[in-house]
Amino acid sequence: MCNRRMLVSLLVLMACCASVAPAQSTPGQLPGTAMPTITSVPSGAQASPNFNADTATDAYLALIPPEAKARSDAYFEGGYWLILWEFVWLAAAMLILLNLRWSAGMRNLAERITRFKPLQTLIYLCEFTIAVTVLTFPLTVYEDYFREHQYGLATQTFGPWMVDQLKSLLVNLVLGGILGMVLFGVVRRLQRSWWLWGAGVSIVFVVVVVLIAPVYLVPIFNKVTRLDDPKVTQPILRLARANGIPARDVFEIDASRQTTRMSANVSGFGHTMRITLNDNLLRRGSPEEIQAVMGHEMGHYVLHHIYNSIFFFAVVIVVLFAYFRWALDASLKRWGETWQIRGIGDTAVLPLAVLLLAIFIFVMTPVLNTFTRTQEHEADMYGLNASRQPDGFAQAAIHLGEYRKMSPGTLEEWIFYDHPSGRHRIHDAMVWKAQNLNVAQPQSAGAP
Ligand SMILES: [Zn+2]
Repeated sequence: MCNRRMLVSLLVLMACCASVAPAQSTPGQLPGTAMPTITSVPSGAQASPNFNADTATDAYLALIPPEAKARSDAYFEGGYWLILWEFVWLAAAMLILLNLRWSAGMRNLAERITRFKPLQTLIYLCEFTIAVTVLTFPLTVYEDYFREHQYGLATQTFGPWMVDQLKSLLVNLVLGGILGMVLFGVVRRLQRSWWLWGAGVSIVFVVVVVLIAPVYLVPIFNKVTRLDDPKVTQPILRLARANGIPARDVFEIDASRQTTRMSANVSGFGHTMRITLNDNLLRRGSPEEIQAVMGHEMGHYVLHHIYNSIFFFAVVIVVLFAYFRWALDASLKRWGETWQIRGIGDTAVLPLAVLLLAIFIFVMTPVLNTFTRTQEHEADMYGLNASRQPDGFAQAAIHLGEYRKMSPGTLEEWIFYDHPSGRHRIHDAMVWKAQNLNVAQPQSAGAP
C-alpha cells in the first residue's frame, strides 16, 4: 500500500502545492522489458528435503531477463536523482517568488480585491497554487508523463493526462484553500502558541482527508467498483473472514487508465476502510499471486497500520511546526524586509514555509521511507502466514520489479525504499517456505 506517498503528499498539500493526483500514469510495455509471468516454480525453489531459501531466492531472480533488470534498475535509480531535482526545482521556484517579490505582489493584489481578511487569504492561496503549478510544470510533465512513457509504464495520451493534472489542481485549490485559511487564521490570532494549534489543525485535516479519500477523492480520477467475480472474491473473502476482517466486499480500481503498474491497497478508516485491487493485478496475477497480495493488504488492516501511520505523522507534524516556528522567525528577521513580508501572519510568507517544508521532507526521506518500509515488511510476514502462498508472493515481488529495483545494497534500501526490495521479499517468502514445507500449497501458477 502506498499510504506514505499519500501522507507525504498531505504534508506538502498543507502548504497547498501538493498533489493528491493518482499515482503517476502509464502503458504499452516494450517487448523484453516487462517482468516475466512465471507459470511454474523454478526447480531451485521447488519444495524438497534439500530446500534452501538462498538458493530458491536466486532461482527466482534468475528468471528475470537481463533487459528487464537493466530497465528496472535504470528507472528506479533515476528516481533517486528525481528526489534531488524535485527538491532543487521547488526550492528555486520558491526563491523566485520571494526574491522577485512576486509573493508580495500576489498579496498586494489580493488586498486590492477585498478588505475581508479570510477572502484575501483565499485569493492569495489560489494565486500561489497556480503559480507553483506553472513553475513546476516542466518537471512534472517530464517525470509523470514522458519518463513514464519512456519506461513503458504509462497508458495515457497527453490529453487525458492533462485533464487529470487539471483535476488535481482543482483538488489542491479546494483542500489547500480550506487548510490555508484556517492555518493563517490561527497564526494571526495566536501569536505565541500558533505552532501548536497549527499542528493540531493540520493533524485533524490529515485525518479528515484520509477518511474521505476513498469515497470522495479517489473517484475523481478513477472508477472504483465492487468486484463481483466469485472466482476471485470467494478465496479473498474466505481469507479475510479467517483473519477476523468483517469484509463483505472487495473493490477494484481501473488503474490501467493511467498505468501498467500492479498494486493493491488498504485505504480510509472506520466505515470508509476498504481493500482495493487494481485491474492490472487482476488481469496479470495468478490466483496464488492475488491471494498473496491480499494477505499482505489484510496485514495492513489487522495490524492497524493506518492508525499507526496517523499517529506517526501526527508526531512528525508537531516536530515540523516546532521547526517552522524557529526557522520562520530566523529567516524573516534576516530577509523579511527584502522580500516585503510583514510577519508570519502575512500570506506572502507561504513560499518561505514551502521552502522550509521541502528541506524538511528532503532531509527526512530516509526516516519516512524506513517507517513505511517497516510496516510493509510486517504486512509481508502477516500475508505469508495468512495466505500460505510463498511462491505467489515471489511472483508478485517480481511483477512489482517493473518499477522497483530488485536487488539494492543495504544502505540504498534503507535510504530510498518505501517497501522492502524484491530480493528481500522473495527471500522472506522462501524462508517462510523452508519453515513450512509441509503446509505450503502445491503451486503451479494456474492451480486453484
Ligand atoms: Zn503494503
